[in-house]
Amino acid sequence: MSTRKPLTDLATHRVTNQPSPLENFNAFDTDRALHEGLKREAHGHGEDRARRLGEEVGSEQTIRSGHLANRYPPSLHSFDRFGQRIDEVEFHPAYHDLMRLGFRHQIHSIPWQDEPKAGQVIHAALIYLLTQAEAGVCCPLAMACAAVPSLKKQPELGAEWLPGILSDQYDSRSIPASEKKGLTIGMAMTEKQGGSDVRANTSQAVPVSAQGPGKEYLLTGHKWFCSAPMSDAFLTLAQSGGGLACFLVPRWLPDGSRNRFFIQRLKDKLGNRSNASAEVEYNDTLGFLVDQEGRGVSTILEMVDHTRLAAAAAGAGLMRAALAQAIHHASQRKAFGKLLIDQPLMQNVLADLALEVEAATALFLRIARGYDDSKRDAGAGLFRRIGTAVAKYWINKRTPAVVSEALECLGGAGYVEESVLPRLYREAPLNGIWEGSGNVVCLDVLRTLKKQPDSADAWLAEIEKARGIDSRVDCCVESIKRMLVSLTFDEQGARRMVEGLALCLQAILLIQYAPPAIADAFCATRLGNDWGHAFGTIPSGFRLDRIVERARPETL
Ligand SMILES: Cc1cc2nc3c(=O)[nH]c(=O)nc-3n(C[C@H](O)[C@H](O)[C@H](O)COP(=O)(O)OP(=O)(O)OC[C@H]3O[C@@H](n4cnc5c(N)ncnc54)[C@H](O)[C@@H]3O)c2cc1C
Repeated sequence: MSTRKPLTDLATHRVTNQPSPLENFNAFDTDRALHEGLKREAHGHGEDRARRLGEEVGSEQTIRSGHLANRYPPSLHSFDRFGQRIDEVEFHPAYHDLMRLGFRHQIHSIPWQDEPKAGQVIHAALIYLLTQAEAGVCCPLAMACAAVPSLKKQPELGAEWLPGILSDQYDSRSIPASEKKGLTIGMAMTEKQGGSDVRANTSQAVPVSAQGPGKEYLLTGHKWFCSAPMSDAFLTLAQSGGGLACFLVPRWLPDGSRNRFFIQRLKDKLGNRSNASAEVEYNDTLGFLVDQEGRGVSTILEMVDHTRLAAAAAGAGLMRAALAQAIHHASQRKAFGKLLIDQPLMQNVLADLALEVEAATALFLRIARGYDDSKRDAGAGLFRRIGTAVAKYWINKRTPAVVSEALECLGGAGYVEESVLPRLYREAPLNGIWEGSGNVVCLDVLRTLKKQPDSADAWLAEIEKARGIDSRVDCCVESIKRMLVSLTFDEQGARRMVEGLALCLQAILLIQYAPPAIADAFCATRLGNDWGHAFGTIPSGFRLDRIVERARPETL
């Protein structure tokens, strides 16, 4: 579409009061919460990288690529024209452009580079940014990144695969990994009879000859969800003689022929439409055992642990994208003689949404720092073990509500595809489901606290840091402390418990680092119960204009 100014004087009327599109802005430089949070949690590292990506994310070209990649979703070619199996998925060129952009910015590899420091915080910040332009490609980028710790458990597989995964070059060709310039890795756990309960997996693996770590096995069975099915290999769970095990299943065999990786069909999904998610069948499919037989769950959980962090960051990114659109629209659209942003009730809605985004951003960045710190500090490892689940759960519980409310701020225009809001709305529930749905994640927190009391201590040490600044926060810390010491919650109360942990940590982060207007309004509403049941119910007496101004996508 031409970028030249359109005609506004039409035959029957003049087009007025229509906001400009939000494009050609820097999504990093215009996001104060991210800007300050990255500086704080990454100790000053990664700013230039985030700025470069932010420039591209806000560019008209990348926004258009995101639109095209979703408008023309991938299609499956099970067979070639001669009826021979190829099991290939074709994507719109815009999808490949976005994948290339992700590789170029090293989103998939930054935590595993020697430099810079704070790689996990930077990775999470970049996922948050790219999600705002297009969420679908963040799935393969996050999985490639997250597969690294699992692959390192099997040194010879690591030596073969890691250089390709850590490459800066995206290579979309469907050819053996050894001939490619860059590689991606998917994961295949979920089966028809059970996704959360992976121990119910029925796929079988038998050794080709010798058994044990790194050896060849043949896998037979199915996977009910397998995203990014054009990945070069998949970490796959299957039952072996020694119990559930994790295998690396390549798309191609060592002799250069196709592995027996049969894509049955692609899911017709609510959102995430640029990305393919497949049903797959294995039938004597070659895989290499990663780690020991019987250790499949713990091996693949290394990957899940990292993708959960990405899911938390992505949820925050979706909220930020929706909020930026809402504020931008309200800054230019007039109703009843005033800009929407100056209408007191609209200001309340926007400010309430901004509090949510600021708190989510502070939370995921703090948890990401736990990954970087855990290289040196065992306590940080325990803190982030719980914190990742807490952040993934809570941020993604807030996302659909925030995106829906932001959509309404645009009125009817928000309900129309071109506004981007419908795409964000369809995407919003997803990060709450994959990598552990809400209940499963909350039960995971409960289990960890009960099994590893040290993790409760690590959490307490973190929330004690902000004692004495705000009486509402002190009160909340006391109640969390009582809860963690006695662990009164059973399974039925697990969501309530995790929600409490999340809100308390968010308040503590805001009270220490956010402007007083934000921290005060957050504590009054989220901790003090002076709040309604919908957004836009912050009580009077708060500087809502300041809260909204801080979140404006144009202001820095
Ligand atoms: C778009 C998309 C892409 C995906 N891509 C992949 C992929 O690439 N690889 C892959 O392996 N999987 C993938 N998944 C699958 C996803 O991880 C699972 O759907 C998810 O883990 C839930 O499993 P399930 O669908 O079998 O639901 P179930 O396990 O049947 O769970 C259903 C509901 O019950 C709840 N529940 C489960 N156990 C309990 C309990 N003990 N107490 C209380 N509540 C409980 C869950 O929280 C959930 O709400 C994808 C899913 C989607 C939607």
